Amino acid sequence: MVRNVVARGAGGGVPARPAPRDTAAGGRRAAGGPPREAGVAMTATHCPYCALQCAMHLEPGADGKLTVRPADFPTNRGGLCRKGWTSAELLSTPDRITAPLLRTGRGGGFREVDWDTALDHVAGRLLRLRERHGNDTVAVFGGGGLTNEKAYLLGKFARLALGTSRIDYNGRFCMSSAAAAGTRAFGLDRGLPFPLSDLGGADTVLLAGANPAETMPPMMGHLTAPRLVVVDPRRTATAEHALEHGGTHVAPRPGTDLALALGLLHTARGQGMLDTDYIADRTTGFDGAWEQATVWWPERTERVTGVPARQIRAVAHQLGTASRAYVLTGRGTEQHVTGTDSTSAWINLALALGLPGRPGSGYGCITGQGNGQGGREHGQKADQLPGYRRIDDPDARARVADAWGVDAQTLPGAGPSATELLNSLGTEHGSRAMVLFGANPAVSAPDSARVRERLAALDLLVVADFVLSETAALADVVLPVTQWAEEDGTMTSLEGRVLRRRAATLPPAGVRSDLEVLRGIAERLGQPAHRFPSDPDTVLAELRDATAGAPADYSGATPERLSDGEELHWPVPSGAPPTPRLFLDRFAHPDGRARFSPVEYRDPVAETGGDYPLIATTGRLMGHYQSGAQTRRVAELAEAEPEARVEVHPDTAARNGLGEGQWARVTSPVGTALARVRLRPGARRDTVFLPFHYGGEAAANNLTGSAALDPTSRMPGFKATAVRLDPVPDD
Ligand code: SF4
Repeated sequence: MVRNVVARGAGGGVPARPAPRDTAAGGRRAAGGPPREAGVAMTATHCPYCALQCAMHLEPGADGKLTVRPADFPTNRGGLCRKGWTSAELLSTPDRITAPLLRTGRGGGFREVDWDTALDHVAGRLLRLRERHGNDTVAVFGGGGLTNEKAYLLGKFARLALGTSRIDYNGRFCMSSAAAAGTRAFGLDRGLPFPLSDLGGADTVLLAGANPAETMPPMMGHLTAPRLVVVDPRRTATAEHALEHGGTHVAPRPGTDLALALGLLHTARGQGMLDTDYIADRTTGFDGAWEQATVWWPERTERVTGVPARQIRAVAHQLGTASRAYVLTGRGTEQHVTGTDSTSAWINLALALGLPGRPGSGYGCITGQGNGQGGREHGQKADQLPGYRRIDDPDARARVADAWGVDAQTLPGAGPSATELLNSLGTEHGSRAMVLFGANPAVSAPDSARVRERLAALDLLVVADFVLSETAALADVVLPVTQWAEEDGTMTSLEGRVLRRRAATLPPAGVRSDLEVLRGIAERLGQPAHRFPSDPDTVLAELRDATAGAPADYSGATPERLSDGEELHWPVPSGAPPTPRLFLDRFAHPDGRARFSPVEYRDPVAETGGDYPLIATTGRLMGHYQSGAQTRRVAELAEAEPEARVEVHPDTAARNGLGEGQWARVTSPVGTALARVRLRPGARRDTVFLPFHYGGEAAANNLTGSAALDPTSRMPGFKATAVRLDPVPDD
């Protein structure tokens, strides 16, 4: 039974109604225009949290505060999860920062200052540091929750106003392995290359490493296939749902998905299930991939993964005999130091069965962060320019430089990945200053205690946020910015659909938008004002121009088409129809064929046993989102999930002297985290689970390492860390 998907309040929830056309009133500030009277009409917009981007209406209540009503939309179909339902509470959080904060001295507190003082201070310090140490002494860090316009302007700000190569973002910790594997296989990375609603026609769906029943509950309405196979070391709510509906839960040892996918490929071939015509006509590289799979017969796969050989045979048969099947991956399979290869192994299986690019079947990855898709396309990633162009491609550099009115020679090259960038801060070879928007790496980055140390070692840390997150609390300057329902912009959902987020209320006095902040700093660094517009529609117009002809072509995503409710899945060239389904005729590689990858299994978990006999895996709870900086400030969510937990099998807990509700110290070779024990009889005995929504001593990422990274995506290993459990005395 999937709970908390749609209903809330008496009567099982508010009935869905058709979304109104773009509401011009409703107290929103028209882009570039004067503020309108607050609280007059309903505003159609989207949830501030995850990549499902559920549609909702914001409506002023009797007390003048906005209330949320779900809207009918192809992804959420009138449903919201509890995070969406309570999202308006964020707008009136008492923790809101409404004036810039300047630290009074090393180790001192903050004092409020006016905007000119704050921006002059920031620009002056940046200029002096650059003069002394060069452009790369300033790093920029972005987030997968930023709108397309912000992500675009942040990348432009780094390359033009700062001239630094050192920009990356927290999507490196989220989607990077899936993006690398998708690009390698298909020549293009769009999480779902088909509309989510296509899943409803499938007879078999295999879901590897995703738990949508908790992380994006309305998506479960699309997982209606009679045969749902959930691959997850944990018996999650999604796994329970599958079992209750005649599906299958496959529970491999954490980090062994790659071996499992190789075993399924081996078994499917043995059963005569491969689509040999498709392999011959639409792909290359099968022989190399098969060579790696030849030794993964079911019994050997069972020894490594713990999945019974008979279950491997049954799943291979289900997939192979399906007339319409999908393979979907999520962070569970991707957030490993072998994440790119693990994802490629699932793609190999899908290709061998002839699924990608076939109507009614396919492969896709489920994007997590709100703008995890658009956020990785428009230039805040270390190696990218807008439109998914590569920064090391001379043609791409020339095209973007032309759009920006600069010489391509002046554009910096690729910089280090997020983990490498953070770990080097304040060191001899690292940056001495960082400007950060829309991220909380003090909680979300691996080895977060070390990250906090590195942030504290900076000469200057500037954080733009609307609350004092754990990272903002370490800053020298905090710049208070608008949040979701106070600003216009576009987001790109997990199915590659560009959406309009609309302002529904005025921001509090004293805060500015991220675009205004970027413009304010850029001007003080000597940039012409017109190069950094602060009106979202003007930035969108620039973004459209800069992406014309690029892999992620947004040139046709005009405000008019967006407001008309057209389903703008990219690529959406100017004057041309959008692309809801990719790869139907050809893949995006020059020869039109998809690529198998010859991937080999490597155990991503540092040896368990001895001091660290268990494997810790991390993930999300239904009530919280990412680092929890937002959802921990919503009373209903904070009450539901007030503290960190560690989920443990009762036998494992007993062996370690622990019982339900006791505090445990979880220790890895990297650090420790404190969490309250929750017993889970359905858990694997060798595995514990910790949510990563909490900071300080409760941060799950105090345990995860940052020394080893995926060689392609630079993803750290969030999902499998060797640990031990110890009781914490009551006092
Ligand atoms: Fe929808 Fe995700 Fe928001 Fe929940 S958090 S309402 S699933 S967009």
